[in-house]
Amino acid sequence: MAQYYECKVKDIRNYVDKGITVYKTIKLEKPADFVYKAGQFAMLAHPELKNKDNPSEFLWRAFSIASSPLQDFLEFTMLIKYTSGLTQFIEEHLNEGDTLLLKGPFGSYTLDESFEKIVFIATGSGITPFMSMLRTLFLQHANKKIQLFYGFRNANQFLYREELENYAKEQTNFEFYCAASDDPEWPGFKGYVNPLLTEYAMRGNDVHYYVCGSPVARESITKHLLGMNVPEERIHIEKWT
Ligand SMILES: Cc1cc2nc3c(=O)[nH]c(=O)nc-3n(C[C@H](O)[C@H](O)[C@H](O)COP(=O)(O)OP(=O)(O)OC[C@H]3O[C@@H](n4cnc5c(N)ncnc54)[C@H](O)[C@@H]3O)c2cc1C
Repeated sequence: MAQYYECKVKDIRNYVDKGITVYKTIKLEKPADFVYKAGQFAMLAHPELKNKDNPSEFLWRAFSIASSPLQDFLEFTMLIKYTSGLTQFIEEHLNEGDTLLLKGPFGSYTLDESFEKIVFIATGSGITPFMSMLRTLFLQHANKKIQLFYGFRNANQFLYREELENYAKEQTNFEFYCAASDDPEWPGFKGYVNPLLTEYAMRGNDVHYYVCGSPVARESITKHLLGMNVPEERIHIEKWT
């Protein structure tokens, strides 16, 4: 395996809120020998951004792969942090046709194929590993019962809106619930996803709950699930930080 891959940027989509790019979805050419499982992550770096602490290295950062292994491209969606690190550098310098560096895949946050009832719960860019899993399940026409609960701030920060709303219409085994925490104009549920879980989440000892998001959201959602008497061993958490 190559030490790292050089991948051409095929497409960039910006999610802009109040004039600021909050998230970026980046599509990369997939190296022919890059094999991964839905839910795994990769390390990305920019060829012009070296690690100041170790100048022979690039500044590598971890990102969950949002594309399905069944698709012929790689996709990542990142929060632009404006902390002078990789994501800010990408926001300021990366254009379509440029190159990003890729290492991986890494991680074991994958879907257990034996699970038949799955509840995905994401906030913000925590949707990324679940996009890979959902895309894979739908491309495979998997006959599982799937729910997604997705919390975001406002309509401008609703990642993958069109695709997710289409799945909700087309996939009979999929239920989609979303919540906007900070959008007075939002026509749907306003607040955090937690009350939606109480009301609509599947229950039973064959249901598995996958959680990904910021540490605060993760903690609150996990506490909420435990309060619903979901045993810890059926709560699967992806910890980014
Ligand atoms: C498994 C995993 C999966 C993840 N998946 C996603 C995902 O899908 N989407 C997502 O949005 N986030 C994801 N994350 C989180 C993401 O990795 C972090 O948000 C990451 O910190 C962003 O990197 P950054 O460099 O922009 O910001 P930071 O990590 O905050 O880096 C900025 C800091 O780096 C230092 N720095 C800046 N420039 C340099 C330099 N040249 N050399 C040395 N140090 C420097 C400075 O101290 C600066 O404060 C994931 C994390 C993990 C662990």
